[in-house]
Amino acid sequence: MPEPHIRRYFSQPSGFLIVRPSMTDTQASISDPSLTGEPKPIIISRRKRLTGFYDMPFETLQERLVEMGAPSYRAQQMFDWAYGKQVQSYDEMSNVPAELRESIANTLPLQTMKLVRELVTDNGDTYKLLYQTFDGQLVETVLMLYPDRATVCVSCQVGCAVGCAFCATGLGGLTRNLTAGEIVQQTVDATRRAHQLDRQLTNLVMMGMGEPLQNYVETMKFINIIHDPRGLNFGARRITISTSGIIPRIDALAEEPYQVNLAVSLHAPNNELRSQLVPINGRYPVEDLLAACDRFIAKTGRRISFEYALMNGINNSDEIARELGQLLRGRLCHVNVIPFNPVDVLEFERPNPEMIERFASIVRESGIPTTVRYSRGVEIAAACGQLRARHQQMEKAAS
Ligand code: SAH
Ligand code: SF4
Repeated sequence: MPEPHIRRYFSQPSGFLIVRPSMTDTQASISDPSLTGEPKPIIISRRKRLTGFYDMPFETLQERLVEMGAPSYRAQQMFDWAYGKQVQSYDEMSNVPAELRESIANTLPLQTMKLVRELVTDNGDTYKLLYQTFDGQLVETVLMLYPDRATVCVSCQVGCAVGCAFCATGLGGLTRNLTAGEIVQQTVDATRRAHQLDRQLTNLVMMGMGEPLQNYVETMKFINIIHDPRGLNFGARRITISTSGIIPRIDALAEEPYQVNLAVSLHAPNNELRSQLVPINGRYPVEDLLAACDRFIAKTGRRISFEYALMNGINNSDEIARELGQLLRGRLCHVNVIPFNPVDVLEFERPNPEMIERFASIVRESGIPTTVRYSRGVEIAAACGQLRARHQQMEKAAS
């Protein structure tokens, strides 16, 4: 029996219809932004929120240490251990007095998430990590090694409120935002893992679970922390934020001091189709979204990349490829075609390689640089949110 929340689409002469998952009233109020207007951040009560070391910008840590009666230079020592050497316990911070290590460990845990699974695939070039947070949530991170770079794909939310039709993460709505510290931990762990493999972590993409621009405050705090030259020193130009198109936050991002890259998940060149695939298009339609992208490009001088998850019979016809080319013509941009990653409970299909190449070459003919990006780790449930879903199924089966 298929579960009630499983989405299906039916081919119809005029296109297709996506049956939305059934939701309770409370879920609907947080998981369907079109019902609530401006997307509402989920506020986690203080009682439920666990602040750890990785949540601390340098100055805040200094203040904390001074309050505890320690000299402020301990902050730099601790940053060296936590970010330079990526130690996993305060005990390893050997030049910090044991008494201070003990008291800070009691108030500010170094790590707040524990690793529950690690899967390796692609001949050892892809590591998929599954974490459990302090409140039992599951979070996915992927480390991908390429000859010339190593990229980590981090999650920023548990679930997602946007609910795109083809995405495993959005299936159950949004559970909660991750804290900056939880996103920092994913990055520090990937840095350590890369070092262990004699590699250097060079790039970071916010393309895991969640919509970064609906967790804007923690996302910016996260970037501020990993960017700090006294810590990880991760250059903003090596960071890419991917969004389903939250226009006010795209404008806000253009005003930030960090030169991060922006990827916009377009998936369709017109409102009729895009609204079916990316429900938030109802609120932020294609023409407004592209106007926001133009403002971003004008303000930052940075090229935008448009993500396009290619699904057979849905958004891959020659006509749609031409329409996409027309739509984007003249913009400082790039198209990333992502062949659809199968998701267990969804019925979309990936087009065959010839169809994928045909689509990309038609867009390219319009003068838009277009690349096909095959996701890593397909056999280990690479589509975002999938490993979490499988793990939950296994736990259920075992209980
Ligand atoms: N929420 C953000 C970032 C996370 S998703 C966003 O939507 O942009 C990262 C990218 O993976 C997005 O472009 C998303 O549309 C795409 N994606 C999600 N599920 C997919 C699937 N099953 N196959 C291919 N791409 C997928
Ligand atoms: Fe959310 Fe992105 Fe998945 Fe859409 S594709 S449901 S925005 S994580």
